Amino acid sequence: MMGKIQKSDEEWKRQLTPEQYEVTRHGGTEQAFTGKYVNHKEAGTYHCVCCGASLFGSEQKFDSGTGWPSFTAPVEQGALESKEDSRYGMQRVEVICATCDAHLGHVFDDGPPPTGQRYCMNSAALDFQPQT
Ligand SMILES: [Zn+2]
Repeated sequence: MMGKIQKSDEEWKRQLTPEQYEVTRHGGTEQAFTGKYVNHKEAGTYHCVCCGASLFGSEQKFDSGTGWPSFTAPVEQGALESKEDSRYGMQRVEVICATCDAHLGHVFDDGPPPTGQRYCMNSAALDFQPQT
């Protein structure tokens, strides 16, 4: 297991757009239906916008109708970490990048088969790379 990527706030700020920075480093949530990957259906892989780690494949993406890109599973279990999030008076499970601790979104257990999970992600936290 490689060590975590750690950068200062200043470094992240320089590397990211203000929206990417707000979502990934401060646990922000983009407005529903505004993200660029909500209806994105190309074949390829979604990477962490901060560190480039691959997180989700297009085969795991499904149309959840929520306004955020949604997936049934990560490319591999070790790609993500989850932690309890009780902010805003809700009990949720926050999903972060295992490589750089970027906030990505939340996971809910009301997804479709085969996993029954719904990884509700922010487009701003993802960087899509088409299959070559
Ligand atoms: Zn990352």
